Amino acid sequence: MKVGLWYNSFMNLIDGKALAAKMQAELKVKVDKLKEAGSVPGLAVILVGKDPASQIYVRNKARQATAIGLNSSVVRLPETVSEKELLELIEQYNQSEQWHGILVQLPLPKHISEEKVLLAIDPEKDVDGFHPMNMGRLWSGNPLMIPSTPAGIMEMFREYNVELSGKRAVVIGRSNIVGKPMAQLLMMADATVTIAHSRTKNLRELTKEADILVVAIGRDRMIKADDVKDGAVVIDVGMNRDEDGKLHGDVDFDEVKEVASLITPVPGGVGPMTITMLMEQTVRAATRKMNENSN
Ligand code: NDP
Repeated sequence: MKVGLWYNSFMNLIDGKALAAKMQAELKVKVDKLKEAGSVPGLAVILVGKDPASQIYVRNKARQATAIGLNSSVVRLPETVSEKELLELIEQYNQSEQWHGILVQLPLPKHISEEKVLLAIDPEKDVDGFHPMNMGRLWSGNPLMIPSTPAGIMEMFREYNVELSGKRAVVIGRSNIVGKPMAQLLMMADATVTIAHSRTKNLRELTKEADILVVAIGRDRMIKADDVKDGAVVIDVGMNRDEDGKLHGDVDFDEVKEVASLITPVPGGVGPMTITMLMEQTVRAATRKMNENSN
């Protein structure tokens, strides 16, 4: 049964923008309560260099943090910053009681080891969930911080009452930030999960069997109606810009919406939920800290 948000313009649309707005309003109430209890949740974002896409992501994250009342800091470091300087800055944020979430915007310049940087962030403050300890905790079924894109997709399933237990789920894409954690979250929700990737043979045979299809490839509108089982729930993570600058998903929305029982649009689907889940993890980290301090 689908009880989703009433303001869908299509009956089978999963409206990520609306759900994100609803969650932000709920988060603001939680933040106000934390403030009343003496704790202001803080999110520190570190950006190295001038990558235009990263600048937009960071600006959006800071804007949303401020809108829900978080204390937010954006540190912009030059492309030439040394790895040592970056690691020292992370350590300062690790030690500070004021910051509950730390996020280093990826990608980093070539002279800085991404692995070392991710390892340097305190796992309790790792709101991206990319620290190997957080990835390991997720895979061992005891998650602390979860990568925000798959976490947001799980919220969508909850909001739209998508039954996962016993369902056949196919995740296309095996990245550490989307595909792998998505597959694990679906498995934890008792779906039977297959992960597909660029070397998968006969992809359509797999996707045609999927009750739940999550597509995170980075190929403009690759998934067509013929690839999808009638009545499937289709989640499109892809963000691809065409030559006119228009954003498209990995799924051909106009075709697939005719066969899917529920589908996310691009834009307005997974994207808005990703940033909101970062905020949610920051608020959760602040709540955890406050509870620890009061025990
Ligand atoms: P990656 O490039 O890290 O991973 C892409 C995956 O797709 C790989 O596992 C790759 O396989 C697989 N793949 C590539 N081509 C094919 C193909 N023809 N058939 C089957 N599988 C294929 O990307 P990300 O996971 O980081 O992101 C995926 C997409 O999601 C991108 O468009 C990105 O912009 C978007 N994104 C959107 C977010 C949002 O908030 N909306 C957040 C994060 C990402 P292999 O491993 O074999 O190379």
